[in-house]
Amino acid sequence: MYFANLQKSYGDLSVLRGINGQIQCGEVVAIIGSSGCGKSTLLRCFNRLETISGGQLMVNNIDLSVANLSTKSLQQLRAKVGMVFQQFNLYPHMSVLENLTLSPRKVLKLSSVEAEERGRFYLAKVGLAEKETAYPDQLSGGQKQRVAIARSLCMQPDILLFDEPTSALDPELVGEVLQVMRTLAEDGMTMAVVTHEMQFARDVASRVMFLNQGLVEETGAPSDVLRNPQSERLQTFLSRMN
Ligand code: ATP
Ligand code: MG
Repeated sequence: MYFANLQKSYGDLSVLRGINGQIQCGEVVAIIGSSGCGKSTLLRCFNRLETISGGQLMVNNIDLSVANLSTKSLQQLRAKVGMVFQQFNLYPHMSVLENLTLSPRKVLKLSSVEAEERGRFYLAKVGLAEKETAYPDQLSGGQKQRVAIARSLCMQPDILLFDEPTSALDPELVGEVLQVMRTLAEDGMTMAVVTHEMQFARDVASRVMFLNQGLVEETGAPSDVLRNPQSERLQTFLSRMN
């Protein structure tokens, strides 16, 4: 995917003011920056939860610069670009397996048997094979987030977007979720991850993007950007994180 001079405003509030970048197949890009700098907005533009106000945005060969996206393109985009939220967003009245099979059945038109087989496969992948009949409120936060990741994987996406996937978790549960994400990265999944976990960004990301006041202030390999930040704002940001 790539974006050039990407802009997003809410009324008079200009949030993204001309963002340039790309995310290549198999890349893991960590998006960092202080609260309110536009990280979630950028991620939401990537799967058209927001329409952009200007510039260019191509995601999975779909042009999101256009004002009126066809229903077909939107469906293609949503099927292939998964999103994992801070608050999990599981359906509370459905079992874990039902949460996993819903979209594969409804959107991909898999049979129940196929969808369940796929659901079990990805549930095992996140280490929760024994939880398929559990309901979300019977799971820990870390387990819920792993189910949410498995649910996204069931769509066999080309790109996964994560918006602070560990921020709602108790500290002792963060590691298990990051471990799952690390495994996905090793499997070659293309990922854009908004995160405050600098250790994760250092270890797993192929690239870090630091947003400041609606612009990319600095970007590059974690070994450069995080260990040897050039911009004063990034230096200040990092010193607050550690
Ligand atoms: P945080 O780290 O706190 O999650 P963020 O970097 O994700 O912050 P955004 O959620 O992208 O920041 O918000 C960027 C700015 O856009 C903020 O000033 C926010 O108030 C504003 N904003 C976000 N969504 C909307 C909306 N739907 N309508 C109006 N303003 C919005
Ligand atoms: Mg946010």
